[in-house]
Amino acid sequence: MFPYDMNTGFGPVNTSRSPHACLKTSEFRNVLLNEGFWTKKITINRKASLQFGFEMLKKSGNFDNLRIAAGSFKGKYRGYVFIDSDIYKWLEALAWEIGREPDEDLSSMADQAIALVAAAQRFDGYINSYVQSREFFEPWTDLDNGHELYCAGHLFQAAVAFKRALDDDRLLDIACKFADHICSVFGPDKRHGACGHPIVEMALVELFRATNESRYLELAEFFVDQRGQNEMKGHRSYGPEYHQDHVQVRKVVEAAGHSVRQLYFASGVTDLFLETGEQALLDSMLRLSKDIVETKLYITGGMGARFDGEAFGDPYELPTDQCYCETCAAIASFMWNWRMLLASGEGRFADQMERALYNNILASPALDGRHYFYINPLMLREARHLRLSTDLPPSEVFVPDQRPEWHDCACCPPNVMRLFSSFSYYLITHDSKGIQIHHFAPADIECDLANGQRVKLNLMTEYPWQGRIQLRVMESGNSSWALSIRIPEWSQNQILSINGEIVKDMRHEKGYIVLEREWQVDDVIELDLQMDAVFVASNPRIDATRGCLAIQRGPIVYCLEDRDQEKRGQLLDVEIDNNQPLMTNWKDNLLDGVMVVEASGQFIDSDSWHGHLYQPVSSSLPAVAQSTRLVAIPYYAWGNRKIGGMRVWIPKKSR
Ligand SMILES: [Zn+2]
Repeated sequence: MFPYDMNTGFGPVNTSRSPHACLKTSEFRNVLLNEGFWTKKITINRKASLQFGFEMLKKSGNFDNLRIAAGSFKGKYRGYVFIDSDIYKWLEALAWEIGREPDEDLSSMADQAIALVAAAQRFDGYINSYVQSREFFEPWTDLDNGHELYCAGHLFQAAVAFKRALDDDRLLDIACKFADHICSVFGPDKRHGACGHPIVEMALVELFRATNESRYLELAEFFVDQRGQNEMKGHRSYGPEYHQDHVQVRKVVEAAGHSVRQLYFASGVTDLFLETGEQALLDSMLRLSKDIVETKLYITGGMGARFDGEAFGDPYELPTDQCYCETCAAIASFMWNWRMLLASGEGRFADQMERALYNNILASPALDGRHYFYINPLMLREARHLRLSTDLPPSEVFVPDQRPEWHDCACCPPNVMRLFSSFSYYLITHDSKGIQIHHFAPADIECDLANGQRVKLNLMTEYPWQGRIQLRVMESGNSSWALSIRIPEWSQNQILSINGEIVKDMRHEKGYIVLEREWQVDDVIELDLQMDAVFVASNPRIDATRGCLAIQRGPIVYCLEDRDQEKRGQLLDVEIDNNQPLMTNWKDNLLDGVMVVEASGQFIDSDSWHGHLYQPVSSSLPAVAQSTRLVAIPYYAWGNRKIGGMRVWIPKKSR
């Protein structure tokens, strides 16, 4: 047993004592969600997905692999080398759920899995079921592709979750023993090298925050510094940049290589900055963010333009149908932007979290919480061309009806589970001046300010369907404090009132309105973010979407599904008229309740091309066949009524 520092109650990232965090994270239970959009999603995650995950992990051999490692089961290791990590991510989700509300079934599943992990751990602390299940196979023989430190990182994160959510040390004991083993192997005077798939960096920083053992922070820094030697093997056509090993971290100018690795690594680097304050690290991350936001980000918050290498493409290379946009990349972006927000206090990073959350991330799970997309394209011509992951579909004639239940590489489903189960933690932070509200959901919020003053707020909203946000002060001390509310990047106009009086001169700082005063119990703040459906254009340099428009309403990006249109099977022939208004319509019985957006458009007569792919310009204008109403649904809800044609970007009416 280590003398763990008592820091139970915090969420996945705890910057309450990080010296260079501009914003301090709050305790996990300081935000209690009330009924609304997110409680529906989180309840499905809790009631359906976690049990389902348990069954899938059993079926896929994940638990058996641990039994083989422990010597209690004779069999052959199954799956990719890194699938221990699926168990750890799923365990992390269980910790947050049980921590919020006890549940015997969930606890029983967690107990079984933790016992297996404990039994598999070697006497020296090492644990990795793939390596342990192989005869004559030594640990750390393939750092580039072995994923041993990657699995360790996910174990550390799950362990921290059990400590913080439940004050449960079982996994933390295992994690610290393993981390100490890693400390005994790697370091400046020991073995050099880093894992080909980052995550251990941010996990070690969090383990440091949870235990106050500085050797874990030093090891995180060591691994960060090891990158950039241009020696890692790479993958297919990619060299060391696949692992972000092509450039030293302080010299990074652009996003490159495997997108999930890039973003997990960036999270670790930013965590390191939050503890050490090394400006060169933050400068590097700011350059990385600028490159992504200005040249490599999908409107859905997705990242990774290429199947090959699951990688970032060149600037403006953002194809809509052959894009990768792995769910884990969007989740990694959410995690990294949270850390950038904590480091800077700038709302633009919360904007990126929101873009990823309501679109790419939310599109991964089916509405039943039992099927998941791995890849999230922005256009699908025919279902039989849907690529589910890097693995090929089972056969040439394979036509998926719905999202797959699970994947050979099942990194995404448990990643969604742990994010949803910890979602409430991301709503607020505090600093020496007051409270910041970053994301909007109905909730009871409480927070102890730096001066010891306890503040309680009630947040009421129908976000993301309506832009009105009401905050009522339920408890406040005598001194003044600042309430900061993020103004999302999509909001063009806002109306603010306090106790019914319109506030004309709003103080804006870093993407937030800041309201500072001696707040009284029952003061009511109302902010209307004026949520209208709008057409969105893309930078003309994105050749894949040039001449097209997308529809967005609030944080939600829309798409056309073939089945909702007047003429089926002709999504390639539609054009949208941006001179006509967009109409919104709430549909309670559609897709668990969604706001539908209708637009004016037309179908062009592609038959007038007489089967030609190319024609001289003089004869190339197609005839208009039929004007039509186009019906758009939230992108996140697509593929829930059988997978068929879909597109986010719609060509603008040509004449
Ligand atoms: Zn994934």
